[in-house]
Amino acid sequence: MSQPDLHSVLLKYWGFSSFRPMQEDIIQSAVDGNDTLALLPTGGGKSLCYQVPGMAMEGLCIVVSPLIALMKDQVQALRDKGIKAVGIYHGLSKAEIDNAVDNCVYGDVKFLYMSPERLATDLIRSRIVKMKVNLLAIDEAHCISQWGYDFRPPYLRIAEIRELIPHTPLLALTATATRQVVTDIQDKLGFSKPKVFQKSFERKNLAYVVFKEEDKLRKLLKVANNVNGTGVVYVRNRKRTREIADWLMQQGISADFYHAGLDSRERDARQDAWMKERTRVIVSTNAFGMGIDKPNVRFVVHMDLPDSPEAYFQEAGRGGRDGNKAYAILLFNQSDLIDLRKFHERSFPPLKDIKTIYNCLGNYYQLAMGSGKDQSMPFDMVAFANHYHMDPFLVFNALGFLEKEGYLAVSEALSNPSRIMFMVNNEALYRFQVANPRYDPFIKVLLRSYSGLFTEFSKIREQDIARRSGIDTELVRKMLNALHQMQILHYKAQNEKPLITFLQGRMAATDLTISREVYKERKLFAKQRMQAMIDYVVAATTCRSLYLLNYFGETTARRCGQCDVCLEQNKAGVTDYEYKQLANLIRKHIQEEQISMEELIRKLDINISEEKAMNVLRHLRDNQHIVEDSETILHWKGGDKE
Ligand code: ADP
Ligand code: MG
Repeated sequence: MSQPDLHSVLLKYWGFSSFRPMQEDIIQSAVDGNDTLALLPTGGGKSLCYQVPGMAMEGLCIVVSPLIALMKDQVQALRDKGIKAVGIYHGLSKAEIDNAVDNCVYGDVKFLYMSPERLATDLIRSRIVKMKVNLLAIDEAHCISQWGYDFRPPYLRIAEIRELIPHTPLLALTATATRQVVTDIQDKLGFSKPKVFQKSFERKNLAYVVFKEEDKLRKLLKVANNVNGTGVVYVRNRKRTREIADWLMQQGISADFYHAGLDSRERDARQDAWMKERTRVIVSTNAFGMGIDKPNVRFVVHMDLPDSPEAYFQEAGRGGRDGNKAYAILLFNQSDLIDLRKFHERSFPPLKDIKTIYNCLGNYYQLAMGSGKDQSMPFDMVAFANHYHMDPFLVFNALGFLEKEGYLAVSEALSNPSRIMFMVNNEALYRFQVANPRYDPFIKVLLRSYSGLFTEFSKIREQDIARRSGIDTELVRKMLNALHQMQILHYKAQNEKPLITFLQGRMAATDLTISREVYKERKLFAKQRMQAMIDYVVAATTCRSLYLLNYFGETTARRCGQCDVCLEQNKAGVTDYEYKQLANLIRKHIQEEQISMEELIRKLDINISEEKAMNVLRHLRDNQHIVEDSETILHWKGGDKE
């Protein structure tokens, strides 16, 4: 096979004249047929790493991704370039899925996007062997590792699919992975030999800052007033997004709020206003940001502690994509540490509650045992929780668990436009029109308004059809439903509600296989990540950037010189080595015995000047790592690291 010219593909379809760092190596490796793992930070350009080889080679590229909204965006973006792409996700009818899969086997589809749950269905398994798959791309590949912060068991089934297409190379991509996860990904995906490309996660233009702060709102205001440009403010609680946005507005700062509870149109409008800089600051839950590609975000402020360094790194990393200076600021106080621990506990509802909630769901939708597989139902979490007098937060977490175990999938509210496709061919339709003159003008409008209706689903707007045929929108819906009933066409009406999909037939709650060991282990890993996050804020004696990079296994990084720790350290006029040595020594003395400031200084008889020692001491005290009680005895308050 001749070597495809990757540069011309890049230029022809994307209009970019050069690859970003690492992209070309990764792509070349995939084209050469290697199983490859690519670690690029968010915004590093991972999509192109599979899209370019997918285009450059004959056949089709299958992309596995857990995020439906992102999948839809990418499919649309490819189509806008004239590339044939399809996506299969929950909420599509069986006919739509059949049709999409057929197009992959017999048509000239270049990209097939799927959730991992879909990949493992019998339909896909039986057809995938008939497809000419040139590359199997696994986005968000860390989801396959139980050590990772976002483990999703359905990912494990990718290995089975691999065996069906053993000669297809695999390209796994992720933005966050610790050393352990990197090994695990390759292992679980059955890499023939290890092959990892990693771009350093160092963000040279991003200054990490942590403030221990009781009055967070004041601090936030100060940040917004001192830093020019656009910002994102993350909070955990939906209600608070509105409160904080309102408060900022009162202080004269252009702000809006965003969370997954808003309907999709509302979310799009707010996101758009922020992207176009009609809104300066967006206050949001972690629902905001995925797939958002705004280069000039100047500050990202966290008002609550994220539950893992992985999550923090991703969210903070949305600042300064353009390479210009940006700030990643985390505000915390003592009560946050308690809240985070509570949150951790609540994220792991007792197994028996999870099982009860599963059972209630089956009853709610009146599913018989064994039935319901692959069915999607509109789902209103609050209504459901109220119906059974349960805490919505408990329901939310239990569903999260069931979802991760592959029993269910809950999709966010997406604006799925209505779609139609004819079920009969041209001649049969004509016969129908002749036999049913009442429908004739209506069908003519459909045929005139949309092309390709015989071969694929087209998006329609009932309002447009109503206008063109001079009837009201409600009647259009009725007619479409009637034609659907008569099996003349498939009509998928627009859907605005979140959907819940049973990925397996309903089973007795006692048969759910969430083992106690798995559950316990999962909880333990989550706890370790939480602890690492707490250490990040509390142990303020290591450069913030270094701390994060070390967490992700980068050992060669150097201190950033611009985070709060480095700035303080610079002020103290000591080198890294001196600082660490002194801080450690001071801690040791304080923890070992009751000691006053004067005694401590006397005891620090190392070969560093007293002035430097005082500087470090002052720094530790100013940052509340050491405090003095009424007896003037010193206490160590900081973390135990360094
Ligand atoms: P990731 O998945 O790694 O977070 P994306 O694939 O979403 O990143 O890409 C982020 C942005 O970078 C996109 O807007 C994309 O078009 C752009 N991009 C990727 N590669 C290049 C390139 N070689 N030249 C210019 N822009 C690029
Ligand atoms: Mg991506």
